[in-house]
Formats: sequence, structure tokens, C-alpha cells
Amino acid sequence: MPITAKPMSAEKPAPTSAPGTGLSAVQRALRKLGLRRDIDFALYLPMRYEDETRIVRLADTRDGDVAQIEANVVSAELVFRPRRQLVVTVDDGSDTCQLRFFNFYPSQQKQLSVGARVRVRGEVRGGFAGRQMMHPTVKAAGVELPQALTPVYSTIAGLAQPVLRREVRAGLARARLSETVPAESAPAGAWDLQRTLTFLHYPTPDVSMAALEDRSHPAWQRLKADELLAQQLSQLQARRERATQRAPRLIGAPASGSLHDQLLQALPFSLTGAQERVGGEITRDLARDMPMHRLLQGDVGSGKTVVAALAAARCIDAGRQCALMAPTEILAAQHFGKLVDWLDPLLAQRGLRVAWLTGSQKKKERDVMAGAAESGEAALVVGTHAVISEKVRFANLALAIIDEQHRFGVAQRLALRGKATDGLEPHLLMMSATPIPRTLAMSYYADLDVSTLDELPPGRTPIVTKLVSDQRRDEVVARIEAQLALGRQVYWVCPLIEESEAIDLRNATETRDDLASALGEKVGVGLLHSRMPTAQKQAVMQDFSANRLQVLVSTTVIEVGVDVPNASLMVIEHAERFGLSQLHQLRGRVGRGAAASACVLLYAPNEGGRVGEAARARLKAMVETADGFEIARRDLEIRGPGEFLGARQSGAPLLRFADLDADTALLEWARDLAPKMLDHHPALAREHVDRWLGSKAEYLRA
Ligand code: ADP
Ligand code: MG
Repeated sequence: MPITAKPMSAEKPAPTSAPGTGLSAVQRALRKLGLRRDIDFALYLPMRYEDETRIVRLADTRDGDVAQIEANVVSAELVFRPRRQLVVTVDDGSDTCQLRFFNFYPSQQKQLSVGARVRVRGEVRGGFAGRQMMHPTVKAAGVELPQALTPVYSTIAGLAQPVLRREVRAGLARARLSETVPAESAPAGAWDLQRTLTFLHYPTPDVSMAALEDRSHPAWQRLKADELLAQQLSQLQARRERATQRAPRLIGAPASGSLHDQLLQALPFSLTGAQERVGGEITRDLARDMPMHRLLQGDVGSGKTVVAALAAARCIDAGRQCALMAPTEILAAQHFGKLVDWLDPLLAQRGLRVAWLTGSQKKKERDVMAGAAESGEAALVVGTHAVISEKVRFANLALAIIDEQHRFGVAQRLALRGKATDGLEPHLLMMSATPIPRTLAMSYYADLDVSTLDELPPGRTPIVTKLVSDQRRDEVVARIEAQLALGRQVYWVCPLIEESEAIDLRNATETRDDLASALGEKVGVGLLHSRMPTAQKQAVMQDFSANRLQVLVSTTVIEVGVDVPNASLMVIEHAERFGLSQLHQLRGRVGRGAAASACVLLYAPNEGGRVGEAARARLKAMVETADGFEIARRDLEIRGPGEFLGARQSGAPLLRFADLDADTALLEWARDLAPKMLDHHPALAREHVDRWLGSKAEYLRA
């Protein structure tokens, strides 16, 4: 939209400070945009430009052109129908044009009186029937034309474009833009930073707009390279800092047979090749005295829990404690149940046990469990965030395992590290079912070693995914009946309605009742909702696990990690409302046994009979692929890296300019240069990181 605002407002003095804050309204608005330091302004780039450098002839303009003309006002009248407006005709000698204003000030009306010569800029509409501009910008004619394009910055309410422009110009002028990239390492022919930023704020009118827009222009290349370098430097710094920390070496097992080997023997299956390989990677890390910082990624159902249990066994074999945390109580309960089944008998022989810590526990039980953690009797502590609450102390924690790591914030990971004893850091194993595409791993998780379970346990049959319109719910009931007749079980997931948990609960309850009456008395239909007390949730889960309930209706509480191999059908209602990774996670609840499994995505078109474009892309991806890596790739494509990462890594500074897909060459350059810079130019490296990440750099180190 062309800027029509009263041009004079820019020159008004800034409003006075709001009481108590010491900041003017403008300053507060600038802070909201993250603009504090001079360099922040210099790096705040325009979202587009306006060309005010030229005056064109009306006769040369075409429908849709944004044009700047100088012309004489030949008529001006106030019209009241169909609504009040100022209609002005101007003539520049080549042709005439009608200008229409619905909102205008008396000063503007005066400026546009008959006989005046004005400079007008706006979008030209219409052709033969006569040209028109709606709400063009009007200035006095004859003022000197600018040499460069005019930047247009993204702004917020309360911060007028001309004010922001002025602030950015001043910040850019003040900012120290000394070179931080060593001359010998800069890409050949690279622009210097001063020239780069001056140009990107005020490009010369001869620039190729395409090169600015697709960011292939040398100035953009330089800027993106700088940004990627800052990110690589800060990640590498974090890694080097970790290398200076010490962790206990977890090696050696008691002569009388190791827990690790006993657990392996007790498992009802043998490990997949991928599980063995990853187990080896973890074992090697644990044997070092540098803290492990490893991400174990594997699609839903790839068997991460066993790998975690084996790592825990290694730790316990070395005489130390392990903590396993999950984001929800249900999930923690599942781990707990399984690990108890596997490990408790073996631990009991050693006078050890598994302890359980959650927020909703009764105080008495909790004290007993915390006591066991503190004395070291609990070799393994399983739970939610409660595990890292301040009150819990460990005798000798050496390994922390975090499931669904993206649900945990940086602060929680830090708190976990604080649980270490004798100045040693615990090893950290994070697990995730949503794989990170390679380019993202390279740039955002450079301080992370990644292990991948790229093989599913044998005997799984692929899940068939079907899209079904909400109007054909009856068919779905028939499908459920068919599965029940085979002795199988069914999940039904109700959508989350964000505004109201109460509505959520009502929907889920209604669905449960509807299904119960449709399926008849013999079928047990259970309900799981996040509002239910934990004990009740666990009871329902146990009933479903033991097949006392055949159908489980739930809100998204079952999203992660629940494991009932006899379940063979997953119905997701209002699937169009869910995110892609979330849908994939939900689907992963079935297909865990040998039975052929299916996932039905019920969708409800909106009033227009349509599903939004992004929603359609998500549903399409679900039907087309069951491969978690492919799903992650498409998710990234649909959402872009900002949102993709935002959901999982709060606090990670995102790339503002570089695009990991398009800029892999620059990323490689930055990866290559970062270690050299830290070694040979540490002061420049510090300056560079500070320039780009400023106060955010601290965050990265977590
Ligand atoms: P996820 O990676 O999603 O956490 P789980 O660890 O819950 O997967 O494993 C999914 C299911 O596969 C569980 O029932 C688990 O016992 C089983 N499983 C794991 N490893 C194997 C294996 N090597 N062979 C057969 N089944 C396995
Ligand atoms: Mg899991």
C-alpha cells in the first residue's frame, strides 16, 4: 500500500515519556521491534522499496503501475455520494488522472486546490475510461528527487514509517561497521559491510529488483554469509566450552554380570541393526570424560525406549544414577511401567530400585521417592519436570535422558545440568521422534551429536492412511466395528479447541457417548482428557493397555509415546486443525504390532466447502508418506524454518536473512571458517558474534 499518511507527522516531536518508564512511545515501539543498539538498526532491513527517484509521464503508465508524476490540479471537488470523498483531476501535459481521497485533512484539500502543481505517487488504475489513483501520496512539486530508492520497513502500530525511517538512518550512520571477517577468508569479491548495509537500505535505482528480491545480489550474499558465520561461531563456542567440562566416565561393570547384558537377555526381541549401532555410539560417548550431548532421533515406533534403557543400564553398571524425563505424566508412566518390567527385577537383585517423581504425586510418596534419589538407592529416576525441581537431590547423577526433547525448554535442560555432583556434568541424551533435516541440524544443532534410528523393528506392516470427510462418519463407525471383530483396539482423537478446555471436554465426552451407543454395550469405550486427575488417567490407560477398554477417545494427551501394540486403528477428528508432525506422531500410536493398521483422518471443510491450503498440504503429506524424515521435510517446507524450529526450540535465534535450502554454499563456508576464526582471530570472532547475536548469545550456550 502506498504511504498516504500525512507527511508532516514525521516532523512532529516524539511524544513525551510515559510515566515511570523513562522511554518515549517511539522508543518503546522500537524496542518491541528488537531495535536497541545502533547495530540493531543497521541490520533492520527494508521489506521493500519505493522508487521516488523518477517522474514519469502519465501517458507512459499502465494499469497497475506504481508511478510518480508531477501535474497541475485542473479540478477539485467534494463529492458526497456514494460517500464523502475528495475527487481531484490532475493533468501532466501527457494525460489526465483522477485522484480520490476518502480521508483527508483540510491542509491536503488546500494543497490540492485548482491551479496547484503537485507531485503525486500511487498505483495507477484503469486505462481507456480514464486513469485513477486511490489515496496517492501528495507532495509539493519541484523538490529535489532522491538519488536512492526509498526503504519501506516493517513496522507496528504507533510507529509511523517516516519516524522509523529516520531512526534507522540515524542508527545506521552511528553503527560501527568495522570488518570482522578476516580479509584472507572473505569470499572473493565480497562487498564490505559498510557498503553492503548502506546499499541494502538505500539501493541505487539502477539495481535489479529481482536480485534484491531473491537475495542473490552481492550485498545480500555478504549479509547472509555474515549471519551464518555468527551462528556457526556461537555454536562452535558452545561446543568448545562443553569440551572443557568434565563428566564421569561410565565404564566398567561388576564382575558378576552386567545389568546391560542381563537386560539384553530379558528383552523379548533382539535389537535391530540401527539400535545396536546407536547403542555403540552412546556407549563410546559415555566412556569419555567430556559430557555427552547427543540427540537420538528416530521415527515413532523405531524403538528409542530400549536404547534409552540400555544406556541407563550402562550408567548403573558404572555405579551411578540415571534420570529419565518425559514431558507428560502419561508418557512418564509408560516409560516407568516398561522400565520397571524390564529393570526392577534385575535392580532388586542389587538392592536398587526405580523411583518415580511427578508434580501430582502425594507428598508422602514423593518424599519416599526423593529420599531414594538422594540416598542413591534409586539407580533410575523416572518422571516429569518434577525430577529437576530444586528440592530433588541425587547421590551421583551421571546420565540424564530427555524424551521428546523439543518439549523441554533450555532452562529445564540447564536445571538438569545443575543436578551434577562433585563438579562433574551429567551426560545428556535427548530423544526426538521428529527428525531434524540435515541442513537444520548443521546450523541450529551444530553443538549436538546426532544418532539416528533409521530402521523400524521387523514385522511391522505399513499403516494405511485415509482421508474421510466428516459427513461420512458412519463409514468410520463401520471400520471400527470391523477392527473390534478382529479383537483389535481403536484410538479416537478429538481436536484441541484452543479457546476453551471446557468445550474440548464436552466434545470428547459427547464423542465417547455417541460411540458407546453406536457400538453397543459389549464394547468398552474409555475417555482420556487432560483435565482428568492423574490417577484417573493412569487407570484409563491401564484399562486400555489390558484391553479392558477397546476404544479410547481422547484429546491430544496421547500425542506422544503411548504404546499399545494391539491398537490397529487411529481416527483423528478435525485432522485439518493439527500440525503435520503432530498428525504423524498420533498416527505412530498404531502399527506397533504385526496387525495391519490404518489411520483415518476425518476432516471438516469450512463453510466455503474448502480446506485451507496449508491444511490441505498437511493432509496430502500424511496420505502420501509414512516416513518421518519425509514428513519432517514437508513440514519444514509448509511452515518454513522459523515456525518449524520455534515449536521445538524456544530461545534459539533464528536466521533472519539466510535460507538454509538456498544458501548451503554460504553455510559450508561459514562452517569451515568458524574454527579457524576461533583459533586465530578470537577477538574478531567475539565481536562478530556480539554484533549479530548480542544478548542472545548467552542463550545459545545453554
Ligand atoms: P519410540 O521410538 O517411538 O519411542 P518405542 O521405544 O516405544 O518406540 O518402541 C515401539 C515398540 O517397538 C515397543 O513396543 C517396543 O517394545 C518395540 N520394539 C523396540 N525395539 C524392538 C526390536 N528390536 N524388535 C521388536 N520390537 C521392538
Ligand atoms: Mg517413545
